[in-house]
Amino acid sequence: MAQGLPTWSSRLIALLERGLPSALLEDHERRRRALLIEGTAWLVVLACALTVPVIASTTEGLGRITSLAADLGTLALTLVGPWLLRRTGTPTAAGHWITGCVFAGIVYAVSTTGVFASPYWILLALVPFLATQMAGRAAGHLWGAICLVGVGLLFAADHFTDVLPQFHDPRNYASTTAIYGAMTILAVQGLGYLADLAKDEAIARAEDAAVQLEHADLEIERARILAQQAVAASSAKSAFMATMSHELRTPLNAVIGYAEMLVEDADAHDLPDMRDDLVKIVGASQHLLGLIDDVLDLSRVEAAKLDLRRERFAAEEVAREVVEALQPLARTRGNVLELRAPPAALVADLDRGRLRQVLINLVGNALKFTARGRVTVHVRGETVDLAQFVVFAVEDTGIGIRDGDHRRIFEPFTQVDSSPRRRYEGTGLGLALCKNLVEMMGGTIGVRSEFGRGSVFTVRLPAVAPARSAPAAPAAAC
Ligand code: ADP
Repeated sequence: MAQGLPTWSSRLIALLERGLPSALLEDHERRRRALLIEGTAWLVVLACALTVPVIASTTEGLGRITSLAADLGTLALTLVGPWLLRRTGTPTAAGHWITGCVFAGIVYAVSTTGVFASPYWILLALVPFLATQMAGRAAGHLWGAICLVGVGLLFAADHFTDVLPQFHDPRNYASTTAIYGAMTILAVQGLGYLADLAKDEAIARAEDAAVQLEHADLEIERARILAQQAVAASSAKSAFMATMSHELRTPLNAVIGYAEMLVEDADAHDLPDMRDDLVKIVGASQHLLGLIDDVLDLSRVEAAKLDLRRERFAAEEVAREVVEALQPLARTRGNVLELRAPPAALVADLDRGRLRQVLINLVGNALKFTARGRVTVHVRGETVDLAQFVVFAVEDTGIGIRDGDHRRIFEPFTQVDSSPRRRYEGTGLGLALCKNLVEMMGGTIGVRSEFGRGSVFTVRLPAVAPARSAPAAPAAAC
C-alpha cells in the first residue's frame, strides 16, 4: 500500500486519516475527498491563526474586535468540518460546511476592507475550486453560483448604499496584500500537492489490488485442478473398492460355507473341541463379510451405483424387527433395549432393507458404546409444511461423544478413538454409510450427545421417498 511514496507523505496521510471511518477509506474517491477536506480544514485553521497578528497590527477599535471575532469564529467553525466528516462518514456535508466557512470569512473580510478595492475579494475565486475538490462537481457549480450572487450583492451594497464599514487602513494594503497573496499561493500549492498525493496513493492501492486479484485467480485455478484430481482419485478409489470387495466376498462365502459344513461334520463325529474352533471361524468370517459389505455399499453409494427399492410398510415394524434381532447383543452387554412407537401404524414408502441396515448400524453402535445401560428406539411421525416424515431416534446412556467430534464421525473411516489401544472395535464406516443411505432416501441424520452421559442419533426421512433430485428433509434436530 502506498509503496513508492516518500515516508513523510505517508505519515502525513496517516495523520490526516486518523479516526476516519473505515467505510470512507475503502472507496478511493471518497478517501481522496476526505483527505482534501482534512487538509483544507487544517490550512484554513492555520491561515486564520496567522491572520490574528496581521489584524491586530492593521486595525483598531471596533474594527479590530469584530475582525478578530470573525477570524477566530471562522477558525472554530472550520474545525467542525473534520468532526462532521467522522460523524457522517461521507465527504459531502463536511465539504459544504468548510466551503461555507471559507466563503463567510472571505465575504466578511471583503465587505469590511473596501469591497472591490480590498485585496481579499479575489479569494472568492478559490471557493468553487475548494467545493469541487472536497464535495464534488455539483458542489463546485453550486458554490460558483453562490459566489457570483455574493459578488453581485457586494457590488450593490457598495455602489448603491453606505452600509459597509471600512475597518482597514488603505495605507496597509500593500503589506496585507503581500501577506495574503503569499498565504493564498501556499494554500493552493498545499492543496494541489495533497490532491496529487491522494491520487498517487489511490493508484498504488489499485495496483496492489490488481496484483492480489491476479494471485487470487491463480489460487482459484490451482484449487480447480486439485478438485479435478480429487474427483478423479475418488472415482478411481470407489471403482477399486467395489472390485476388491466383490473379489473378497466370493472366497469368503466359500470359507463360510465350508466351515459350516465342517461344523455339521464335527457334530456328526462328536468332536466338540473342533466344533468350537470351527464356530469361531464362521463367526469371524461373517464379521469380515459384514465389513466387506459395508465397504461395497459405501463405494457403490460414492460411485452413484446403488439403486434404492421402494415398498410400503409400517415404519415401527422395521424398528421392532431390529430391536428383536439385537436383543441377544444387548443382553451380552447388560443393556436394556426397548422400542417406543405410536399405537397407530406409520406408513412409509421407502427402501425397507436399507432403512433396516441404517437402524441396525445405529442400534448396534448404541449397544457397543453402552454397558449396563439403556438403549431406546423412538419412532414418531412429523408433518412439516404438509409433508409427512417418519423419525427414528436411537437414544443411549453410553459413553457419549465430545462436541468437536459430532460432525467428524459421519466421515468414512473415522472413529473418535482411533489409537491402537482403543477399547471398541470397528472400521468407522457405519455412520458414513448411514448418512449416505439416509440422504439418498431424501432424509437427514444428526446427533446430539453429551460426553459421558449418552447420545441420540436421529434419522428423519420423508414418508414417501422423493425422486433423487428432490430436496432433503429439514435437518434432523435431535
Ligand atoms: P465404527 O465401526 O467405529 O462403530 P461408525 O461409523 O459406526 O464406525 O462410528 C464412528 C465413530 O462414532 C465410532 O468409532 C464412535 O467413536 C462414534 N460413535 C458412533 N455411535 C456412537 C454412540 N452411540 N456412542 C458413542 N460414540 C459413538
